[in-house]
Amino acid sequence: MSETKHKYKFKAEIKQLLDILVHSLYTSREIFLRELISNASDALDKVRFESTKGTEIADKDLPLEIHIDFDEKKNLLTVSDTGIGMTKDELVKNIGTIAKSGTAEFLKKLAESKEDATNIIGKFGVGFYSVFMVAKEVVIKTKSFKPDEPACLWRSDGSGSFEIEVLDKKIKRGTSIEVHLKDDAKEFAEKYRLESIIKKHSNFISFPIFLGKERINTIAAIWREPKTSIKKEQYVEFYKFLTYDTEEPMFIIHKSVDAPIQFNALMFIPKKSDEFFWMDRENYGLDLYVKRVLIQHKNKDLLPEYLSFVKGVVDSEDLPLNISRETLQENTIFHKISSSVTNHVLSFLLDKAKNNPEEYTAFWKEHAKVFRLGYMDFTNLEKYQELLRFNSSFNKDENELTSLADYVSRMKEGQKEIYYVLGSSRAAIETDPHLEIFKKKGVEVLYLYDPTEELVLSSIRKYKDYDFKSVDTADLKKLEELGDKTEEKEKTEELSKDDRKHFSSLLSKMKKILGDRVKDVVESKRLSDSPACLVNTDDTISASMRKLLKLANQDAGKQEQILEINPDHKLVRNLIEIFKKNPDDDYIVNVTEQLYGSALLLEGMLEDPHLLVAKMNELLEKSSDWYLKQKDTSQ
Ligand code: ADP
Ligand code: MG
Repeated sequence: MSETKHKYKFKAEIKQLLDILVHSLYTSREIFLRELISNASDALDKVRFESTKGTEIADKDLPLEIHIDFDEKKNLLTVSDTGIGMTKDELVKNIGTIAKSGTAEFLKKLAESKEDATNIIGKFGVGFYSVFMVAKEVVIKTKSFKPDEPACLWRSDGSGSFEIEVLDKKIKRGTSIEVHLKDDAKEFAEKYRLESIIKKHSNFISFPIFLGKERINTIAAIWREPKTSIKKEQYVEFYKFLTYDTEEPMFIIHKSVDAPIQFNALMFIPKKSDEFFWMDRENYGLDLYVKRVLIQHKNKDLLPEYLSFVKGVVDSEDLPLNISRETLQENTIFHKISSSVTNHVLSFLLDKAKNNPEEYTAFWKEHAKVFRLGYMDFTNLEKYQELLRFNSSFNKDENELTSLADYVSRMKEGQKEIYYVLGSSRAAIETDPHLEIFKKKGVEVLYLYDPTEELVLSSIRKYKDYDFKSVDTADLKKLEELGDKTEEKEKTEELSKDDRKHFSSLLSKMKKILGDRVKDVVESKRLSDSPACLVNTDDTISASMRKLLKLANQDAGKQEQILEINPDHKLVRNLIEIFKKNPDDDYIVNVTEQLYGSALLLEGMLEDPHLLVAKMNELLEKSSDWYLKQKDTSQ
């Protein structure tokens, strides 16, 4: 080997990726061409960007084009561009040695679902390698836009290594990729096959694509055309081109704004959340154009992160063409555009919520997880709040949703707070003793199933004049004032004066049994069906949240709790009788421990179930004795 020639090994992850691509993917192999054309288009965008900045560029007057040539006899396909090219270092770095952040994740996904792989290849920045699905050898010749850099050649059969050679020969700026097709991939050297693939996947590429001598794609900045002249299919085609999604978008948002600042925005909300791509934080944002020239792919500042499910492009006449990505941030026009774009998206959603609640519900179910993170957007807080949805006790099942406005419209007279409870499911929430008084009073409670929902409520703190309040910290006096929903069914007989005294002493006894574990043991006014429950004294954070923090190994501090006892419950009435006979009966100790343990369990705060279960078994044993005796006497 001459000293200008070097052999390199593919990075392990890339080798693994190549193995999968080559050996197990046979469907939609055609997308390799989409990936090569998209790289060519990126390279052309980059060189145009450099030239608008005034950088010195090799072969300055070359037209910005993509050429696709084919030779059926030689089984050869060549994709060339007059783009930015690569230096030797860039070639080593970009193709073969550095695996992008998402590669490992992509490999996992790829192993799980071979079908979808071709749709996600492009999203992970590993598109180039898809060429090895059809190639037995690939040769890249490239010349950087930097005038002094020599041209280079890259060659590989995709098995384990590649080699790079510095060329003596002068070639023009840009990159050409020779694809030596496998025997079973001859179709990709046929004109009609190529033409249909380009039309299908690359029609919206904004540089001319030539197949042989013929220009194939029709360039149209569809976002700049009047809405009325665009058919739904064109929108859908553009959306699929932009996102690689195979489905139609859920919503299309097309806006042309002339004053005070001119811009066009064409945005889409996908049917499916690609939350999976979330770990790849690079993979969101709108494409920013200035006068039809792409300035930045996936700009992250046009929309706030909580709207990152929105895909699309924004194009403005009012920004300077030579603006750099770095100075965008400080540009006031850019800021105005971005706040206007954000506003349009939120208004669009508000309009959907109002006029087409079913479609809005579908949107919410898919994208709420990301959208909820918008609680920090103080400028748009009002709109954000109106867009929030929750499940609530008013809803028939967990699929129905309630807005905060709906909740408020159903509030009881005099109600000043919006109540919520966090739980793992609707069924679990509905057995929560804290809800008994709410049911009795007919006061609606928001049911939260995701800790971020509580995070949202505790961050925004109030809706209109109403504070959010967790049911386990709700102030009973305020609830008492609201009046009962229905006449009470059969009221349990009032405790006699004498029994009241005993009940009082029983509560003190229970406090003594539980010691420092509870702050106090008191009579409950909130319970109707359960004998006991724990109430939190600190209302900054709910018990469920505390539990979650604990699971995440974050200590939220020790919570002071009060054990409430329902004097009307049959069990408690019996306890009073037992207490009257012998205040020191062991049975009372047992039951007290048991009630406390069960209440902790319901809060999800029980640290060790062993004691609870042991005591429960003891009680079961006693009750079985009693049961047997009863049976014997009745027979
Ligand atoms: P992505 O396009 O998402 O970055 P690819 O695997 O498709 O991932 O390409 C890897 C890198 O190789 C590109 O980021 C780019 O730096 C370089 N590259 C590929 N094709 C070209 C080309 N035609 N011209 C210049 N650079 C290219
Ligand atoms: Mg690519």
